[in-house]
Amino acid sequence: MLTRDAEGMRMKLDRVDHLSTELIGLDPRDIRHVFPHPTLVSIKGRNQQPLFISALLHGNELTSFRILQRLAARYKNKAPARSLLIFIGNVDAAAEGVRHLPHQPDFNRIWAKGESAYHALTADITAIAREAAPFASIDIHNNTGANPIYGCVNALRPADLQLAASFAPLGVFYLNPPTTQSIAFSHFCPAITIECGKGDDPIGLEAADRLIENTIALERFSDTPLPDDALTLYKTVGRMVVDPACSFSFGAGGTDGADGAAGGADSAGGADVQFRPDLDKLNFVDLDENTALARCRPEKRPIHVLDEHGTDITTEFIHYTDGNAHLTTKATPSMISHDPDIIRQDCLGYLMRPLNLDLPK
Ligand SMILES: [Zn+2]
Repeated sequence: MLTRDAEGMRMKLDRVDHLSTELIGLDPRDIRHVFPHPTLVSIKGRNQQPLFISALLHGNELTSFRILQRLAARYKNKAPARSLLIFIGNVDAAAEGVRHLPHQPDFNRIWAKGESAYHALTADITAIAREAAPFASIDIHNNTGANPIYGCVNALRPADLQLAASFAPLGVFYLNPPTTQSIAFSHFCPAITIECGKGDDPIGLEAADRLIENTIALERFSDTPLPDDALTLYKTVGRMVVDPACSFSFGAGGTDGADGAAGGADSAGGADVQFRPDLDKLNFVDLDENTALARCRPEKRPIHVLDEHGTDITTEFIHYTDGNAHLTTKATPSMISHDPDIIRQDCLGYLMRPLNLDLPK
């Protein structure tokens, strides 16, 4: 089928009814031999209410590709216990081994209203999925920084939390950014994003595989609330971005350069902001107020914190004294990456607070 956008541009969405066994043993860079375009795979199972799985929204995050290979092998000759609806997203980026190509948007930021052909594509997939009334939705990702594995939910419902706890003992509730696949799907089914560690993390792959198989086999979600110790949940309260005009480094090492002409190294050769070299080791560590995050050139305020509406809430979280950026308050970072492309294209990472669930028991 072809999806449309306001300018009449078209993006092709292929629809197939099985996962080709050609996938098994395929190099991810060759994915277009099997899936030349974004593809929706509908596999019939004994229980017709499908599990929706979203793969390769980010082309360089390969746990979802490994899951596709496993599903292709596992269901080569038998039907799954539950139907599967699988979206295979950015195959062009996967062929290049990148998150997305320079001319493309981020495929996990196009699931809300928008005018582009990409938005038309995700609107069509969302409409097809909504019609199928999925049992649940699982979107599979990897992190670029050092993070434990964790599940993200966008609604504090027992089924969503049960999905998160069946993946990992750590969970994150977020509403920012508001344009992700799981937020869109949380409007009509339990939905989770799973962050499976770095791309080659075997723990993340096994946990993802287990979650998917358990969800396929599950008849229905439990009515009993989770035991208190089943899931430690955090709420994302801010997204940290680096001023595009500021250069940065981790430690006193080389600078990444800056997009803006105002950036660049000072006379001593340092970047405008020198993050502490172990910054990504602080992911999921509960930090006290006044924890130092970075050294900054005195006139620079390079780290900004934004809420889910894009409002600048930096002063709630960060203060600058004596050329250092410190936390104003207790906070727990997540998804901090040292990858300059991720930091420039997406963000430095997120700040969270523990969320004490007050669900009816
Ligand atoms: Zn991702």
